[in-house]
Amino acid sequence: MPQAIPNIPDEDAFMKNLLSGLDSTCQPEHPPKLKRTASCSSIAPQTPSKHTGSRPGSHSNNLDISMLLDGAENWDWNDMEADFLTPKKSNSGKTPMKPPSVKRSSVARRSASLSATALDVNALLEGAENWDWADMEDDFITPKKPKAKSGTVAMPAKRHAKETCTRCVVDDVRVDRELQVLSVRVQSSRDSRTVILCDDWVDADIRKGNTINVLGDFDSFGIIKITSKINFLINHPDILITATALSNAPQCRRKPLLSALVRSSLDFTPALVWGNMVHEVMQICMAEQRWDDRFIEEHTKEIINKKLAELVKINVSVDDAKREVKARSRGLRMFSERYIAETPKADAVLTNTRAAANQSSLLAISQLHDVEEDIWSPTYGLKGKLDATVQAVIAESTIDKRVKSESLLSTHTMPFEIKTGKTVAGMEHRAQTMLYTLLIAERYGVDVPSGLLYYTQSEEVVRVPQSRNELRALIGARNEMASYMMRRNTHGKEKDLEEPFLPPTIDDERMCKKCYALDTCMLFRKAVENVVDTSSPIADVYDLKTSHLKPSHLTFFKQWEELISLEEQDATRFRKELWCMTAQEREDKGRCFNSMVIDASFQPGKVPNNGKIHQYTYCFVRASAVRGASFLNGHMSRGDAITISVEPDLLALARGFILELTPETVVVGVDHELSVDKIQTRLEMLRGARIAVLFRVDKDEMSGGMARIRDNLAQLFYVEGDVRRLELVVDLRRPLFDNEETIADDLQHIPEYVRTSSGMNPGQLAAMKRALSARDYALILGMPGTGKTTIITALIRTIVAMGKTVLLTSYTHSAVDTILLKLQDADFGILRIGNVDKVHPGARRFTLAERRLPTTVEELENQIIAPPVVATTCLTIDQYVRNPAARKGGLETSLFRRLSEAHPHAVIDLTYQYRMNEDIMELSNKLIYGDRLRCGSEEVAKSTLVLPKGCMTGTLDLGVCLCEDSCWLRHLLSESSKVVFVDTDRLPARDSRVGDLVQNDVEANLVYQITEAFLRSGVQEDQIGIMSLYRQQIKLLSHILQDRKDIEILTADRSQGRDKDCIIISMVRSNDQGQIGDLLKDWRRVNVSFTRARSKLIIIGSRKTLNSTELLSVFLRLMDERGWMLTLPPNADVKHPALQSERCGIRSPAKRSKENESVASVNEPLSKKLKTPKVEEGILKGRPILQDVVNGGR
Ligand code: SF4
Repeated sequence: MPQAIPNIPDEDAFMKNLLSGLDSTCQPEHPPKLKRTASCSSIAPQTPSKHTGSRPGSHSNNLDISMLLDGAENWDWNDMEADFLTPKKSNSGKTPMKPPSVKRSSVARRSASLSATALDVNALLEGAENWDWADMEDDFITPKKPKAKSGTVAMPAKRHAKETCTRCVVDDVRVDRELQVLSVRVQSSRDSRTVILCDDWVDADIRKGNTINVLGDFDSFGIIKITSKINFLINHPDILITATALSNAPQCRRKPLLSALVRSSLDFTPALVWGNMVHEVMQICMAEQRWDDRFIEEHTKEIINKKLAELVKINVSVDDAKREVKARSRGLRMFSERYIAETPKADAVLTNTRAAANQSSLLAISQLHDVEEDIWSPTYGLKGKLDATVQAVIAESTIDKRVKSESLLSTHTMPFEIKTGKTVAGMEHRAQTMLYTLLIAERYGVDVPSGLLYYTQSEEVVRVPQSRNELRALIGARNEMASYMMRRNTHGKEKDLEEPFLPPTIDDERMCKKCYALDTCMLFRKAVENVVDTSSPIADVYDLKTSHLKPSHLTFFKQWEELISLEEQDATRFRKELWCMTAQEREDKGRCFNSMVIDASFQPGKVPNNGKIHQYTYCFVRASAVRGASFLNGHMSRGDAITISVEPDLLALARGFILELTPETVVVGVDHELSVDKIQTRLEMLRGARIAVLFRVDKDEMSGGMARIRDNLAQLFYVEGDVRRLELVVDLRRPLFDNEETIADDLQHIPEYVRTSSGMNPGQLAAMKRALSARDYALILGMPGTGKTTIITALIRTIVAMGKTVLLTSYTHSAVDTILLKLQDADFGILRIGNVDKVHPGARRFTLAERRLPTTVEELENQIIAPPVVATTCLTIDQYVRNPAARKGGLETSLFRRLSEAHPHAVIDLTYQYRMNEDIMELSNKLIYGDRLRCGSEEVAKSTLVLPKGCMTGTLDLGVCLCEDSCWLRHLLSESSKVVFVDTDRLPARDSRVGDLVQNDVEANLVYQITEAFLRSGVQEDQIGIMSLYRQQIKLLSHILQDRKDIEILTADRSQGRDKDCIIISMVRSNDQGQIGDLLKDWRRVNVSFTRARSKLIIIGSRKTLNSTELLSVFLRLMDERGWMLTLPPNADVKHPALQSERCGIRSPAKRSKENESVASVNEPLSKKLKTPKVEEGILKGRPILQDVVNGGR
């Protein structure tokens, strides 16, 4: 049996790596003799500055340390500490203190600290952070105290005395006489304070403007000293670094940072798969308190069935997997017999390599608190997913022949980490476990003096006691990582000041060659850091990994990697609000629902059977005592990622998605059980009093992440990467085509082609042939309604009939599902991959969730490999790039555009459209397409929206309709009105703000009335689509029209690929300032909205407000010229009482008259001298932009 645990020399070496070059803290400290003088009292923030030795860029500090330290050699530090620097400690150290170490750069320090240590890649990969989301139920068991046996002294678990954490912003940094002195401002109170960094903390990379957490108590002068012995400093605490990543840092600081930047999904090894399965088996045993062979076997089988996809990846059969997992779980029963008990058994040895030779410990695990708990700690800037949290009873005894032996029995809440691999990386495991002790202490409100490591192969349980030295070193490494990460965040802002955002390579041949991040590391070294290396120990491997890259490849990678990072910054900036803002503050910003409780009466539907995240469904409502705004106000919508927390202590207890949203309820699908009783117990422990559990539901901005996108980019450039894609996408190699004539002949023998292509126009047929003759790619440029969906479905059917396979993908679920809905009758297999909650109900039958759970690899292969068509969304940057710098830099440039600009011959235009009648088409032709669009048939050109029951006979008659002159609603309903702009300026219909969002209640009311009028005239719900570019307006409309289930209410982004007979658009913006925001200036979105309608397009808005943009002023002018403008009279919205909805707020007479006051000034004719933008040059500017318009117009 191999020894599972590291020996003491190994541990020392590990810690030396962490600590080396930092300080002499492992040595007894002997401070210099300093005599307290009168000048000490002058240590206060207001002391005039004499400024010496400040860092470049730092400004003078209020505290002049040089002056203070004048004569410092005469001070008595011990006396001083007693008064105001640190609590006085007995100075037993007789050894003179080592002279303060010469300051070295962080690079030099790291190089010195990194010694070669064998690293087992598989063992490292078994880290819990890469696990799938938990599939099993959490099990919060109320802690019970074990009974103390006679002959023992019981020690109860202690309540955690939480360290004071002060969040500060650094105003100034000065280095003086081996001290780093920070002038800081407390973020909450704006008070000025001073932080003095001593010992190894002196080298911390703290800069002006940094946010820091100071852990410890300031003295009455507002000063705190952070030394090797007391207190902590957390730099950039909002960057939460995983404990797993941090535990790898001692070997190489660069590696965890690379893993955070580039996340590969290809790192599947048998060790990782077996490790995950054994973890899960053990977690279930612990939760269910069952350890018999039959139970283990049953659950092994279940887990294997659930994870068949992983077996496919490693090419192993179910039987082999069962054998393997069984062998690796062999020790579980023994473990339970030995360690699962109320009090320790005689053979339940708990190993502690730090214990003295005559000390021994026994362990009993009496309870399980949770498994796979995700804990975020903005106090320490850490996060982690813990295998398990247990209640442990430990009996400690000292063997002393002279004294009667007595066991000390104590009980603790502890992290329990399961390690299934080889144990060479045991020291990393210790570091990880020790960091978890911090997280648990914070989450559970109890003291956690140590953690537990269980090695399944050697069947040993190792105790990892918390140690100040080790934690300090780990936090030092964390701070360094955070500094590097922050540099990345500021990259691109000040080009000249850019610093490396990755630590340098460690240049250790043995370690680097085994490193799982080697390819990524070398790629960044070459493309981003531009390192020339012919002589280092890794020069050969560097050459091997990068010599194939041309300068153009390096430029491409660097440029796109940088653009991805810019966009990433934009996506990450909101996350810290979860702990920096109260729920109410964040709700005011529209990104949180505050004071929520679980609706116990809610009956959840069936949870999808293969959902990784959606394990539990809850309905939240506002706590009865709290009056809050409608949930429809704000940035949160159906489908958004969320976190559920109880502030301020229990952050992100569960994560998931919004499934349903109404004004009063929010239904969520989450990954963890939320048991109010158990949470209440936890809160009681944390706060010392019983209080009501109030949840907050926060929008989680980070769920997407860019690490996989970066991985997709990097895969092109690796030495064994995707060479073909590299040639085509990066090198822009000319795409090849087979002879179209020959192909055309062959296609005539394929009945599916003959059938699907019959009736196609010449342009569509040409597109089919070009696509089917492409060896690399073909680009079909189809303007709205030109039949792209028809061509794609015909192509899929033909390709499958030719015996080939198809991957159908787009960046939106709706675009993928639009095609699938047209393949409902296909006689071949289709697999739809993706989050079932987001898949269109009509396409769900293609998902695995709707199929019988496979029990063998063969069955799974049959389900996932046999279908010739696989459809999924692709991981990509959103079409609408958020970060302006990234947009400017070209991140918005689509692949379509890049390829079509380089190879126009690969593009086939589709100009005949079959959607819009000629009036609607004219609108797009004039605004965007330069008259290139044609109607595909006379029938399409002349189509109208027919009212089967006539124009609401009875409702719009005199007496029922209150319109004085002609009825505006009757005008809109008329079959001859095909495009109408409904001008609300005289009404008026002002926009309003909800937090930082905009809505327009009057427009929403008008939309409701128009919709009802159509429906009462016999138009069907599914003929109508309602759109707005504003999400808040969409929510308002969804609320008002919630009973009309078949009416689609969409943003421009979500309307891609859709069309309706009648589209009603609410433009929302209407104000005296002429503010229209960025959305309405986005001509692609506007164009997408206008081109969804087949027979009737109604656009509601303020003519005066919209006229302030170039594109829309051209649009309004066109409306005028064609006579398609309908100006509503004042109060038009109340002229049809029969069409009012209770859900629409009716404006009070007072408000109405106030609004009318400003109408006179609004209701002036538009200037005859409207500036006519040069549409052809200004907006289209030739084909490339058109191509993106077309892409946007799907
Ligand atoms: S290849 Fe070497 S330098 Fe690069 S991340 Fe891995 S261990 Fe560190």
